[in-house]
Amino acid sequence: MVVLGEGDLTIQEIAREVGEGRRDFSKIKGIVFNQGNRFVETPPAPLLRDLDLLPEPALELVKREKYRFDVFGKDNFVTCLETSRGCPYGCDFCSVTPTWGNKWRNKSNKRIMREIEKAKELGYNWVFFVDDIFVVWPNRSHREKLFREIIDRRIGIKFIAQMRADVTARNPDLVKMAAEAGLRVAFLGVESGSQETLRKMHKGIAVPDSIKAVKVLHQNGVIVLVGLIVGAPYEGFRELMATVRLSRELADAGADGVQFSVYTPLPGTRVFVNLLREGRILTLNWDYYDLLTPVLRTRVNPLIVQLLSLYANHSFYVRKYIKGKLGRGVRSQGDKARLLRQAEKYMWRRLPHFAQVTLVDFPLSLIKTLLLYVRRERLSQEVVSELISQSQRIVYEEGVWAS
Ligand code: SF4
Repeated sequence: MVVLGEGDLTIQEIAREVGEGRRDFSKIKGIVFNQGNRFVETPPAPLLRDLDLLPEPALELVKREKYRFDVFGKDNFVTCLETSRGCPYGCDFCSVTPTWGNKWRNKSNKRIMREIEKAKELGYNWVFFVDDIFVVWPNRSHREKLFREIIDRRIGIKFIAQMRADVTARNPDLVKMAAEAGLRVAFLGVESGSQETLRKMHKGIAVPDSIKAVKVLHQNGVIVLVGLIVGAPYEGFRELMATVRLSRELADAGADGVQFSVYTPLPGTRVFVNLLREGRILTLNWDYYDLLTPVLRTRVNPLIVQLLSLYANHSFYVRKYIKGKLGRGVRSQGDKARLLRQAEKYMWRRLPHFAQVTLVDFPLSLIKTLLLYVRRERLSQEVVSELISQSQRIVYEEGVWAS
């Protein structure tokens, strides 16, 4: 049985049905199940309106020792908390809105504080807020009150959050407050150094926003990790190089880490449907959909896209490291400098792993891409039509909320 989309309420209904000895799943919304020798899909389920109704995470059932966060030194433990779901934006490559809906919903600050305090009591000193987007325009004042409360109550926990560049760049005071409350690591989805690519992605940010956002975070002592994407179907070599160049500008602005991903059309997104229709998808073997392997026929050869992503990743760190050693890099102060020193030691210890990835795994992955490209897998028309129809189906009962 498969639960589609937000499954919290659906799982409860399934458990009740099984627990009470009935096995009639046909009335449970939002599932696909096997009945005899056919699959039955029930109508979409409603989204949960009030996230405070969810049970609190049973952190006490988890062994804290298994969640060491060694990258920043000994005695660091991290737990994951969720404060919101969904995203009001519509980036074409992103699976967040098909998964959680285009409506942004958040828990109340009272509830979030209870969860943070529980994590603290259980000995966690780091929280990773797993929200795909931690601050959006409509919730700025909500977040401001949350940060104020964390500061006033001297919670003393460090946290990691995923942010948007435009909101970050235009709200330096909020970032300052977030850093005071404990924000130590921020992940920014910058995606591209080409304004044209950003426009086609429907990202809704401008390149200068990203540089400013990195500066604002760095100035407030926050470690900045940046996500970039290469190989979008509408990109040429010039756009790819603009992204590589931007990664260097971001390093000089204070970015500490970068992750180059290969543009991957995830099932359920509109790009997936469009590219399937255009016959530009190279494979439907989901093992290749790892954000590292090109699965698309693009304007640039997929091997070049893949090689470029490795080169850009490595050159970011090598360049940053050398500049830092020569005293020409951007300087970090205080807690950020201390955490980065720990992270550097951790990276040196992991060097054999990185060497294996670069010298063994990556060449193997290149061969896989080459075979994919040369063999030109024929996609069955029946499967393609089925996938297009499934991908276009709505997962949620629109306009209806569960409470
Ligand atoms: S990439 Fe970020 S901003 Fe864009 S739709 Fe996904 S979660 Fe929202």
